[in-house]
Amino acid sequence: METKIVSMTEEQPDREALRLAGEILQKGGLVAFPTETVYGLGGDALNPESSKKIYAAKGRPSDNPLIVHIANMEALKKIVKEIPREAYLLADAFWPGPMTMVLPKSDAVPYETTGGLETVAVRMPVHKTALELIECSGGYIAAPSANTSGKPSPTLAKYVIEDLAGKIDMIIDGGFVGIGLESTIIDLTTTPPQILRPGYITEEMLQKVLGKVEWDQAIIDADSKQAPRAPGMKYRHYAPKGELTIVAGPEADVIAYINRHVEEDEQKGEKTGVIATSESAAGYRAQVVRVVGSISNEEEIARNLYGVLREFDEDGVTRIYSEGFWKEGLGEAIMNRLLKAAGHKVVWVGNNK
Ligand code: AMP
Ligand code: MG
Repeated sequence: METKIVSMTEEQPDREALRLAGEILQKGGLVAFPTETVYGLGGDALNPESSKKIYAAKGRPSDNPLIVHIANMEALKKIVKEIPREAYLLADAFWPGPMTMVLPKSDAVPYETTGGLETVAVRMPVHKTALELIECSGGYIAAPSANTSGKPSPTLAKYVIEDLAGKIDMIIDGGFVGIGLESTIIDLTTTPPQILRPGYITEEMLQKVLGKVEWDQAIIDADSKQAPRAPGMKYRHYAPKGELTIVAGPEADVIAYINRHVEEDEQKGEKTGVIATSESAAGYRAQVVRVVGSISNEEEIARNLYGVLREFDEDGVTRIYSEGFWKEGLGEAIMNRLLKAAGHKVVWVGNNK
């Protein structure tokens, strides 16, 4: 299949291309597009055939549900059984924006889109190109991240092209995305509501709106220092080709540990890489040292993380080490993705227990 590639910005939309993209979606085709979080791979959320195509293009297991993207509150009514008060409160506070809520689905949403679940995940993005595309497409776009399953989510169109060119109808290049990590997912079908995936909208922000919120047990297990309990968590997500290890503890101990291991790895013929901050980078002796941002700027780290992971692939790095980051606020989301990328391989150094 030939993939049509078009470029536009939020400020200067290409209306003709958007109209064409909307037509492709309405006919059951797939279009990748920018959002404020990461690039999405879109299909008509109400068409089971489109959802099947999304799973096939990504190589994603079909029991991993898709998020339905809408452009206005009116659209929500058709795809959920009822809209609880909490949903209005969350929408008021965070929509349009990087927050996804899970609600009981209506019959309009096929099981192909929800991975067989009775619930549907819904988000209203704030990116203008995404919103216009949703309007042009009939109002409901199912869109997971536009990457091959298992790889880091794309923050630039060139990574979408790398993974999906030839497999989908169209790619809209909208430049670098703003946030760089996927949306926060909050499940409103449980009491209290549960955070299923941390993101830019933090636990504290959700608490201000909802009162009590809890973490999904799977995240608690995965983030603990013990081996994960749920078997699915052993699988790597967002993963670079090289083997990634997170080294956590006091900075001096982390640097010493990583440099020692880099040297050993290189003696064995490995190509080594380190994910560092602008503050620590000069201390590392690996062949490739990539700065993900400043330790004092979590937004910068979030925005650069997936790109840095992809760049190690381009360099052919086979052993990667990363510092750990503070797990508070946006740091929760950063560490959540990094842990998955590392397959939960974490080494604690120093006297940090
Ligand atoms: P991605 O599309 O790559 O951003 O991933 C979407 C995420 O949303 C997946 O990890 C799903 O597990 C989650 N998700 C989507 N729909 C639901 C749902 N109905 N219930 C729980 N999680 C969901
Ligand atoms: Mg994804």
